Amino acid sequence: MTNTLLILPGDGIGPEVMAEVHRIIDWYGTKRDLKFDVTEDLVGGAAYDAHGKPLSDATMAKAQEVDAVLLGAVGGPQYDKLDFSLKPERGLLRLRKEMDLFANLRPAQCFDALADFSSLKRDVVSGLDIMIVRELTSGIYFGEPRGIIEEGGQRVGLNTQRYTEAEIDRVARSAFELARKRGNKVCSMEKANVMESGILWREVVQKVHDESYPDVELSHMYADAGGMQLCRWPKQFDVILTDNLFGDLLSDVAAMLTGSLGMLPSASLGAPMENGRPKAMYEPVHGSAPDIAGQGKANPIACILSFAMALRYSFDEGAEATRLEKAVEKVLADGVRTADLMGAEGGTPVSTSRMGDAILAALDASL
Ligand code: NAD
Repeated sequence: MTNTLLILPGDGIGPEVMAEVHRIIDWYGTKRDLKFDVTEDLVGGAAYDAHGKPLSDATMAKAQEVDAVLLGAVGGPQYDKLDFSLKPERGLLRLRKEMDLFANLRPAQCFDALADFSSLKRDVVSGLDIMIVRELTSGIYFGEPRGIIEEGGQRVGLNTQRYTEAEIDRVARSAFELARKRGNKVCSMEKANVMESGILWREVVQKVHDESYPDVELSHMYADAGGMQLCRWPKQFDVILTDNLFGDLLSDVAAMLTGSLGMLPSASLGAPMENGRPKAMYEPVHGSAPDIAGQGKANPIACILSFAMALRYSFDEGAEATRLEKAVEKVLADGVRTADLMGAEGGTPVSTSRMGDAILAALDASL
């Protein structure tokens, strides 16, 4: 089977961090005979500059055909005044919506060498390895009615939390499947105490579990308590399953357990395609970082680890994904640091491409 990949570097530091991923893709081609058929295209502000919209129809069509999309980052202050429909982020949202990427996977993994970076104590975070599965295409960010309406002589902001059974069912299955490949535990988080959508969420997750995944340990937690537990003792969790809104908040909390934004990958998965692979887009959690763009300071690790997730979830190359993750771990253990990873101990930070060099050298050493 060929491995097709659409690369959308985007804006700001997106192209800088993606350049390092290109080198890693080339490394797999020459050193592991693992070939990718790569096309590259525009998204976000770069697409707006070229075509007047943040994602062209042709790029959207290409994204639907490939095994995986790898995206850098979008946005920048020069686009802030654009109409809402033309903003760079709309390109990203269109990809997620039209590819129907309903399961957003955000790992929070604490590399031992960076444990002191967390705002929590070393023993609370070191060795942490959790996965948040956030529903991504429904819930309050998409529910109708929405808007700012007039009521009784004043304006009212309105959004609707709405989930169908089918939407809960499919994302729950994604979480249980993942758990089986990890620690075999799922904790589902909602607010069933105060929200009907939470009551339905809890019922459907329990039903999916009882009917199809009785071997996986399932617990339920109110999302606010979940936030507290994530800060108190995050290692109690393996897979956390939650909705779009709570997932947005909880995954950012979990992210900060691990230190820098420059370290965090993500995957967004949809239904299986004809070849059995899921529709998929991989991207670092961080944005386009206009404050450091063009200076060679960006940490490419989040983007590189996003490619590692693509190896695991789209290309069924789990062992190669682990090889890449171990290479990153080794480089960090050796003390190689981009500026965002400089701690109190000081030292000289390396550039984006030097970090890439070090990871490639660690990959070589792994052979
Ligand atoms: P940001 O993630 O771009 O940056 C936040 C801070 O983290 C900045 O100080 C930045 O320098 C630093 N940072 C981020 N990634 C880094 C990396 N790889 N290496 C080193 N330092 C890094 O968030 P922001 O400043 O709120 O947003 C900037 C722009 O990015 C905005 O236009 C925003 O809309 C957009 N954005 C895009 C995405 C995305 O493409 N998925 C996500 C978030 C924000």
